[in-house]
Amino acid sequence: MNAEDIERQLGITLRPWQRKILNTIGGNINANTVIAIRAPTGSGKTLISLLLAFYGYDANTVVVGVRARTEQTRFWEDVRKFNLDVVPLAFIAKSVHCRLLNDEELKAMKELNIEDVDVSCNKCMFALPHEDKANIHLARYFDAWLDAFIDTNPNLPPKEYVNELMGKLNDTHCTYDIEKNLAKGVIRLRRRLLLIGTYPYIFGYPSVVFENIISTYEEDNPRFLTPEGEEINVPSEGRIAVIIDEAHNLDKLSDQWERRLGTKRMERVLQFGERYCKQLLEKPPNPLDIAELKGIDEEKAMRLINESIEYCRNEFPQAKQTAESMIAKMKDRLKELAKEYEVTEKTYKRLKLEHINELTLSFEEFSKLIMPLTSVEDLVSRARIIRSFTTNSGLFYALYKYKETGAPEYRDQLLSLIDPDTWNFYITKEEDEVYISIKPVTPAPIITQARAKFEGPWILMSGTLPDKDYIERVWGLHVDYYIDLSKEVRIGHREVKIITDVTSEFKSRSPEMFRKYAELGKRIVMSGEDGVYLFVYPNARMMIDIANLMMDLPSSIKQVREGEVRNIPVLMKLAKENRKLVIHAFNGGSLVEGIELVENGKSFIKYVIFMGVPFPNVKDDYTRDKIKASGLPEYRYMKIQAWMSVMQAGGRSIRNNEDRATWVLADYRFSYLSKEWGLVPY
Ligand code: SF4
Repeated sequence: MNAEDIERQLGITLRPWQRKILNTIGGNINANTVIAIRAPTGSGKTLISLLLAFYGYDANTVVVGVRARTEQTRFWEDVRKFNLDVVPLAFIAKSVHCRLLNDEELKAMKELNIEDVDVSCNKCMFALPHEDKANIHLARYFDAWLDAFIDTNPNLPPKEYVNELMGKLNDTHCTYDIEKNLAKGVIRLRRRLLLIGTYPYIFGYPSVVFENIISTYEEDNPRFLTPEGEEINVPSEGRIAVIIDEAHNLDKLSDQWERRLGTKRMERVLQFGERYCKQLLEKPPNPLDIAELKGIDEEKAMRLINESIEYCRNEFPQAKQTAESMIAKMKDRLKELAKEYEVTEKTYKRLKLEHINELTLSFEEFSKLIMPLTSVEDLVSRARIIRSFTTNSGLFYALYKYKETGAPEYRDQLLSLIDPDTWNFYITKEEDEVYISIKPVTPAPIITQARAKFEGPWILMSGTLPDKDYIERVWGLHVDYYIDLSKEVRIGHREVKIITDVTSEFKSRSPEMFRKYAELGKRIVMSGEDGVYLFVYPNARMMIDIANLMMDLPSSIKQVREGEVRNIPVLMKLAKENRKLVIHAFNGGSLVEGIELVENGKSFIKYVIFMGVPFPNVKDDYTRDKIKASGLPEYRYMKIQAWMSVMQAGGRSIRNNEDRATWVLADYRFSYLSKEWGLVPY
């Protein structure tokens, strides 16, 4: 179908560039094609990606990966706005939907970053009965349920989202389970499906959910009937396409795969262990329920319950004391090591083998001590807070043994790491808490595995997509079409100013230089128009030092720093209440990427001031390991990273054609970088 046919069919008018893309590559897409589109926010790239997938390739299911839950809305809204004949189902974390978790468990899972994974749904009483799952497309309520999901905005805060759904469904089943099965029903009814989820649904463990939905295409037989009684031949093969939104974030997949162990986590385990024991002693579960849950006989279930009760009553108090002293010892040791390695906030130092040995053994010792608590957890909760600790500790230990011996049996225990050879051990610090961490140094194996799981064309899009060579070498994805619309499609207006008498280069960092930066910052705020001023520093340290020197700005100018306000709605409120709001953020922090201060499509951010070039920190061992693994010359890698950061942070100020913003690039090195990046004419 060409662009004109699509316009006619949907009753829409495409932009000339959208028409051109559809007509040039729309008909040439096959299952192996990878398309990369670089175009700014607000240019209409969400629509073009959907049209390429559904019309160019004729996909029957399109899987979309978004960086953050709130970004699902763009796809969901475009389907409605352009009247696409597609069923959009947006997935948010299973734990948020789970009716069997309490608020403390949910909070702990969020804090430990395990909310997408660790809920066991086995034989849950809120799951749909098997009959309904198999025939959900026949059920009277199918359309009503589907409408409830399609009409509920996935951008609502998680709890509100689930409550609204529950109200509309008028049912007591689990909303997560219903959604999964509705998606399968949509496939059986041969309707086009848009499966939207955050990156883990494609690149991480929750991808099994999407794989399972897609496997509906392989169900061999016409055993499904339409409500009219007509047999449905589920197509033997799905035509799947994948869209990766804000795809520059693939570069950070390796960071997102990080696993950490630290004393905070040990404390959580103990705290929940105690809570679960108390729960078990006060209200032991019914052996019949446990027998059913675990698929064992009643006698065995009774034995399991009694063993756990015995443990909680007689052994746990002593184990708790031992565990507490282990935690205290570990706390001291980690602090000592952090000092020895000179770890600063959010930086990573590669651990020496002798320390890896010592620490992984200590975690394993703790893990063994609290192991009986995993059975207690199993009996009283659906959360997997304790088990997730013991699993991680086992992984850390196996990775250490694999690094030390290279023995294949350890490699076999590390399958979930995809390619254990690319993982390293580090020590790091966050909010004054010291952790040991394992991380892969390249995203390539993660991307390659996802590419194999979700076959079909892939469409990557972002306003700050790195070049084709980088995507191919660093991400390991062969790109067939690289479409750069950054010059052709311009959104809003930006004025770029370069200040050359300051610099953030290491050798020039001094109190004097920071004072100059602070004076510059204050001048900009005092002489500028009303609005939000986003200051972006190369790192947290510089942010603190310079922001401290700007505290003497008049009190009528509100100032906030990264870490003080985590919540975007709160920042939004501040932006509306204050004529001038100064936000101090740093490269690599959460604000620079995720700060969306937009109302009616327009951004509140009027100034973005770069207090130095946001190069990655080459004194950080993880950065060094990533550079090495990329195979690129160091300076080239660094420049691409800095370019992505500048464009991302700057892009926050221009979300719409009417947006006007000033970018101040304060560092003499910007005088040539800005030309190279096309920010100012040569
Ligand atoms: S099926 Fe049950 S255990 Fe699973 S998420 Fe839903 S309510 Fe929780």
